[in-house]
This record gives sequence, C-alpha cells and structure tokens, in this order.
Amino acid sequence: MTAIPARKNTLDLIGNTPLVRLEGPSAEAGCDIFGKCEFANPGASVKDRAALYIIRDAEARGELEPGGCVVEGTAGNTGIGIALVANALGYRTIIVMPDNQSHEKMDTIRALGAELMTVPPTKYSDSNHFQHVSRRIADETDGAIWAGQFDNTANRKAHIEGTAKELWEQLDGRVDGFTCAAGTGGTIAGVGMGLKEFDEDVVIALTDPHGAALYNFYANGELAAEGSSVAEGIGQGRITGNLEGAPIDTQFRISDEEGLAWVARLLREEGLCLGLSSGINVAGAVALGKHLVEQGRRKPRVVTVLCDTGFRYLSTLYNREWLESKDLPVFDWLRQDD
Ligand code: PMP
Repeated sequence: MTAIPARKNTLDLIGNTPLVRLEGPSAEAGCDIFGKCEFANPGASVKDRAALYIIRDAEARGELEPGGCVVEGTAGNTGIGIALVANALGYRTIIVMPDNQSHEKMDTIRALGAELMTVPPTKYSDSNHFQHVSRRIADETDGAIWAGQFDNTANRKAHIEGTAKELWEQLDGRVDGFTCAAGTGGTIAGVGMGLKEFDEDVVIALTDPHGAALYNFYANGELAAEGSSVAEGIGQGRITGNLEGAPIDTQFRISDEEGLAWVARLLREEGLCLGLSSGINVAGAVALGKHLVEQGRRKPRVVTVLCDTGFRYLSTLYNREWLESKDLPVFDWLRQDD
C-alpha cells in the first residue's frame, strides 16, 4: 500500500477520504458493498466538502472579502464544516440550527468559536424556519454571505469534482451502483452526475428515510411524505437547487429500524461507530446490490456514504432513555443494568 502524501495545508485534509469494503452488507447483498468514510474529514462529516466549496465559490465571485462572515442554516454538520473552514481562512461564522438536533453538534459548533442560534423546528413554508432565519441574519450582517447549501450548487460541485472522481479512481473505474439519502441533495446529485460522466450505466438510487417526500417524487412524480424519521441531516420535502437535474434511476425507502439495525451490526461486527443516516444508506446499498444481482449484473460493486461519526449522537442513538422515548429498539449492550 502506498502512503498518502503530506497534504499542503489543513484545508487540504478535506476530501480524499478512504473507501472500505463492508463485510456484513456485502454478504447480505451477495455482491461488494463499499462505504466512503466521510467521518474521516476534519469536521467528521461529509459536509466539510460542501462548506469548503461554498466558501471558495463566494470568494471567487468576490462576495466574501477578508474578515467577512459566513451565515448558514443547518442540521449541524454543515455548521461544523463552515466553522472549521472559516477559522482557517479568517472569517466569522453564524449558525442557525433547529433545536431538536443532537446536543453534541450544538456543543461542537460553539466549541469551534461560531455563534450559534437555535430555533424551534417548523415547516419550510413558515418564515421562522431555520433556513429563512439564517438568510435574514446574513442580509442584516455587514460583510456576510449566506451559504444557502440547499440551493447553492457549489455544494454538489464538491461531489462532482471530489467524491465521484475519488470513488471512480479508488475502484479502478468499475462502479455499478451508488446510493445515499438526501438532505440538501448535494451528495446524491453531485456523485450521481460525476459518476455518470465516467459511465452512463452506473445506476444511481435515492435512499429515502420515512417522513421525506422524495421517494414518491422519483417513483411517481408527486412530492408526498409518509411516516417519520429521527435521522438527522436527511429527509427532504422539496426539489432543492442541488436536486434539480439529479440523475436518479431508482429509489428505495428505508425505515429507522432498518437503518439502526445496520448501525448496530457495523458497530459490533466491523468496529465502525456511525450516525443513523449512514445506517440508512447502508440498508439502501444492500437493497441496490440485491436489485443489481437480480438484474443479472455480474458481481456488482455498490458504493454508499458513511456520512458522519456516531460520537456525534452519544446522547441520542447511543442512549437507552432517548431510544426508549422514541419507541426505537435499544441496542443489547446498552441494557447492561437489566
Ligand atoms: N447525513 C448527515 C448526518 C448529514 O448531516 C447530511 C447533510 N445534511 C446528509 C447525510 C446529507 O447530505 P446532503 O446534504 O449532501 O444531501
């Protein structure tokens, strides 16, 4: 194995993440399932990539000037990525987050020196929705830009130029399928577009959690949600700017219970501690792998994204009381007091 060359500066630590073959999911699907280790980014999530591209794009367009400020509404991970990138480049950060997200993400944003404002969760059409609040703060703050990750396509460009190209090289130019869930849609759209540039036949599948509207949209053209999910960072109700033109070939809907079962197995059997969106993605990758095997593809290779670290959810996913309060199954090893 060749050693990774020294990176030229700390921002260069973003991206070029490892790819790993996942034993259990591969055995289950009867083909090779790979996970892109996005928890290995400096901010421990896939969103460092979007943060870097959005800030570099605003600089290139002359909108963000030295000493300026970056404002964003986020479930948390983008806020962490922006705070890190902004620190490295000398900008201030203001983050607006819904108050039902994990405390670990809020504490991390504060620890990084960003200003954090939390707001009650509400529907997108409400002017108090975290995205609208953050946009207003940006408008009212001198020298500030609004990152606008949902509709700002610098987000998906990070995945076209970065993630997709890396995957293609890491698998020596043979990828049969890719799937992940959408928050902004930057990852699924960007990786999908990037991989299709290499090979039109790569199957791109959306993996949607319950409570999101995209499964129905891609299945039958109607934005309609069913059920609910506690997964943070995923689940979209509209076609964001990043999702426009996304090359989605097929779609799966995955429950929190199925996602949690993979979170548990990956932790106990393979030593990976992940967040729930990663578990949902892996369940989707297994479904896509089986689908490609049924279609007669020989030994297909399917890739998904391991979006963030489970250490970000110690008070939720890995906490017995919290799981019980959400009527979710409690991992066996959290029942040690019984
Ligand atoms: N998983 C987690 C934990 C996230 O924070 C996000 C970002 N919102 C995603 C998945 C989805 O990524 P994207 O915004 O690129 O759709």
